[in-house]
Amino acid sequence: MELLEERIRRDGVVKSEGVLKVDSFLNHQLDIDLFDAMGEEFKRLFADAPVTKILTIEASGIGIACVVARHFGVPVVFAKKAQSINLDGEMYSTRIQSFTHGRVYDVIVAKKFLGPDDHVLIIDDFLANGCALNGLIELVNEAGATVEGIGIAVEKGFQPGGADLRERGYRLESLAIVESMDPDTGKIAFRQGSVTKREASTGRAASGDLGDGAAGRACDGAAGQACGAAAAPAVPAPAVVPAPPVAVASSTSASPEFAAFAGGPREEPEAHS
Ligand code: 5GP
Repeated sequence: MELLEERIRRDGVVKSEGVLKVDSFLNHQLDIDLFDAMGEEFKRLFADAPVTKILTIEASGIGIACVVARHFGVPVVFAKKAQSINLDGEMYSTRIQSFTHGRVYDVIVAKKFLGPDDHVLIIDDFLANGCALNGLIELVNEAGATVEGIGIAVEKGFQPGGADLRERGYRLESLAIVESMDPDTGKIAFRQGSVTKREASTGRAASGDLGDGAAGRACDGAAGQACGAAAAPAVPAPAVVPAPPVAVASSTSASPEFAAFAGGPREEPEAHS
């Protein structure tokens, strides 16, 4: 999406460790005209999908999700980060490793807001290693609902989440895909021709389109089902493609600068008892 790419080029700040700061328009101060254009584009891309709910994760996905929901005329549900979970049977829950903090959060959605009849469009601001999306997919699966698609504002194509989700057959549309970015020069290169145009008919990436992935931090496998392994494929994949080699992130691997990137840390999760 040209408008978003231009804005990222103009106002995005490339930080170290593969982080893009866009807090002046996307996830701290919010440019609602831009969000509206993004919502319109997602509506165009998923026009044929029978979407009944938009699902996102707090906090930075909520703003975009609300504007997208307006275009679809459906409610937004956001997964809440919880410090403690009372497994009283009223919540779906999973664990998600935060890209920004390296920590693993329990996240929950109340069962009354997601059920087997729902057709869900998942929306988030960024896609990096795919931990957040895998957790959201798991919540949809727990509910017996259907993932109609995934809409992302900014995918970092040099980190492995997008390639992995497409390989597993998910219909993933990213409005801007950053192919590379250089913290020294600030230069940002976008993938030529959007995934949208090339893949809209199949929702599946050609294998030659896979990013190199190796630059990304991986979701922490040690965090149980927090990322990757938990989510089933959307459709049976025709072939198994080995995952690119990735470094395993730990909560100690984030530098102070990394932890403080991109508009500051997300708020601490609320306690749910
Ligand atoms: P993933 O779970 O795919 O590894 O990371 C996605 C989540 O981490 C998003 O919800 C987003 O909030 C955050 N994130 C990942 N990379 C970036 C980035 O480069 N900049 C910002 N601002 N947030 C990011």
